[in-house]
Amino acid sequence: MEPVVELQQITHVYVSDREASLALDGLDLKVYPGEFVSLVGPSGCGKTTLLSIIAGLLQPTKGGAFVYGKKVQGPTPEVGYMLQQDYLFPWRTIFENASIGLELTGRTDERHLARTLSLLEEMGLEAAANLYPQQLSGGMRQRVALVRTLSTDPGLLLLDEPFSALDYQTKLQLEDLISETLREKNKTAVLVTHDLSEAVAVSDKVILLESHPGRIRKTFTVPEHIRLARPLMARELSGFNELFHEIWREMESAGEKE
Ligand code: ADP
Ligand code: MG
Repeated sequence: MEPVVELQQITHVYVSDREASLALDGLDLKVYPGEFVSLVGPSGCGKTTLLSIIAGLLQPTKGGAFVYGKKVQGPTPEVGYMLQQDYLFPWRTIFENASIGLELTGRTDERHLARTLSLLEEMGLEAAANLYPQQLSGGMRQRVALVRTLSTDPGLLLLDEPFSALDYQTKLQLEDLISETLREKNKTAVLVTHDLSEAVAVSDKVILLESHPGRIRKTFTVPEHIRLARPLMARELSGFNELFHEIWREMESAGEKE
């Protein structure tokens, strides 16, 4: 099977006028169709850098990044990017915010707009379509951001800590909604999170990065019975805590080497 994402020996150096810092060092990664992969690791280990490279927003210093077999040369509609902050425009309604990707790609036809409306409905936002962002809660705004990301129908979603600004209960609900939605629509996803229990609950694979320089330390496969359960339920299953602690211990010992 062709991977959706393939990174070959990705190295990235940030250069400023005072110094050069090695953020990623010779990183290889493959993500296959329909997989939900989480990237975890200490702050500053290069998670956002990695996503930016896959998204085509940042050109790696060395190595090759491929999405659907094509070399990444800039952002494309096949890839959706969702961030911790929702970046909704305050002067646009929820529907206008949700359909902005269609405007930017020149696809504001009846069919696409109707699809966006039905995505809003799926997210329980139909009553909010004509409201403005400041009238919505944080959880609702992140759901709008998800609709905006999905409206152009990307096959690959990159999610950079999309739940971390939310309160705990909202976060659990949104994890559930996002993972169910992506599974149902058969999307491929890479999620960055600093929350190990979230990573185990939503993904098929958890990739632990270490820092200075950023490298893959270890990849953990989530057991099938946990993978198939909804994130909210997954936390209750046998084997969940064991895997959580295994990743935790590995992360701690990675920290000790510094
Ligand atoms: P993470 O998302 O895992 O917290 P980042 O990818 O944001 O990590 O950062 C990786 C490393 O690169 C960090 O040491 C960070 O300080 C550095 N870095 C990130 N962005 C820049 C930048 N624009 N200029 C210089 N250094 C940066
Ligand atoms: Mg980051």
